Amino acid sequence: MELIVQKFGGSSVADAEKIKAAAQRVAQSFRKGNQVVAVVSACGQTTDELFALAEEITDRPSTRELDMLVSTGEQMSIALMAMAIHALGHDAISFTGAQVGIVTDSQHTKARILKINTKKIKEELDRGKIVVVAGYQGVDAYNNITTLGRGGSDATAVALAALLKADLCEIFTDVDGIYTADPRIVPEARKLDRISYDELLELASLGAKVMQARSIEFAKRYNVPLRVRPCFNNSEGTTICQEVREMEENVVSGVTVTKDEAKVIIRGIPDRPGLAARIFREMAQSNVNVDMIIQNIGTHGQANITFTVPKAELDAAMEAVRKIQGEICAQEVSADSNVAKLSVVGIGMRSHCGIAEKMFHALAEEEINIQMISTSEIKISCIIDEAQAGRAAKAVHKAFGLERPGRPGS
Ligand code: ADP
Ligand code: ASP
Ligand code: MG
Repeated sequence: MELIVQKFGGSSVADAEKIKAAAQRVAQSFRKGNQVVAVVSACGQTTDELFALAEEITDRPSTRELDMLVSTGEQMSIALMAMAIHALGHDAISFTGAQVGIVTDSQHTKARILKINTKKIKEELDRGKIVVVAGYQGVDAYNNITTLGRGGSDATAVALAALLKADLCEIFTDVDGIYTADPRIVPEARKLDRISYDELLELASLGAKVMQARSIEFAKRYNVPLRVRPCFNNSEGTTICQEVREMEENVVSGVTVTKDEAKVIIRGIPDRPGLAARIFREMAQSNVNVDMIIQNIGTHGQANITFTVPKAELDAAMEAVRKIQGEICAQEVSADSNVAKLSVVGIGMRSHCGIAEKMFHALAEEEINIQMISTSEIKISCIIDEAQAGRAAKAVHKAFGLERPGRPGS
């Protein structure tokens, strides 16, 4: 008998028929003699709709009340899932995050799981029940409901799988697995049979929303056997595992695009020590997450600094920069939110050269201008014009031959 955690994303439980189909999946695994914990997201676009509703009330809702509101989406879907399993003749019981003791810190809307009391889940499993747990939510030390950041049901599933020492954690979604690029942006993208935690973590952090980045960090740390599978057919999906030697041959395994960042440009600041420190201290104090930074070589004693921040934090970033504009003697401050970040990711980059050249060449051929560049051990990212993002992704995907069966990116 194995213990399996199965997570169903919003699209997999979008309506009654889909909930019934997802329940069938759970029942199938249960009938094979497995213990099953189902983690369920809110149905369809419910979470987006709840956020939109809050925005209609106020543009500055309290984050505690937001969590109280959006967590109701999952409370609805777990009850429906449990009923659908009952209808198939099996015993099931649903629990909210608080009910199964998913304790988090108090950072509303982006809380981290601190501990989970698995006793109750284990007791119900041992009584022969299928346990249905609400994804995305927990409770802090003061009994406030919290949520785990968008896509957070993945984190619930992975954390439960780790702490229950599950034999497998299956993430059911609306695509056949992890692809070399978002198939909605690059239709030629190809499904990967296997990918390492590190590569998937980079892909997810750089915009591939197929799994929440934080959940992959957790899966890697606890070595959770993980698979991303389609909910609507029987394909095996993609297995996520620790890196194996042959993966090094995959120079590039994927391409991502994100439109979630914006650029802040500070022109004409004196080229002297301490000013960058001053600017980024102000960003840190305003809780703005800075991603890429470039500073040009000073000319005539003056320099420009450009950096990117999440679009959602652009207003806070601009407010902070304007506050110190006089103090840092900046001549001009501006912002550009029509940018996209295009990245290529692959473990094999560590041992191969020429990757940047290939990427930049593909962009040049399309006459796409690169505004900023950043690299790490296994990724290269470029900031480009948002309107060119789709075309850029397709061109770079093609340049690395990712659509071809066989080894990607070589
Ligand atoms: P769920 O509701 O199941 O959590 P999500 O919408 O969060 O599903 O994630 C699935 C979506 O992720 C897919 O529909 C796809 O458009 C998108 N996606 C982005 N990048 C990739 C990728 N590299 N591979 C597969 N899907 C991707
Ligand atoms: N329902 C939540 C969201 O839309 C959590 C999830 O889907 O994983 O972000
Ligand atoms: Mg998701």
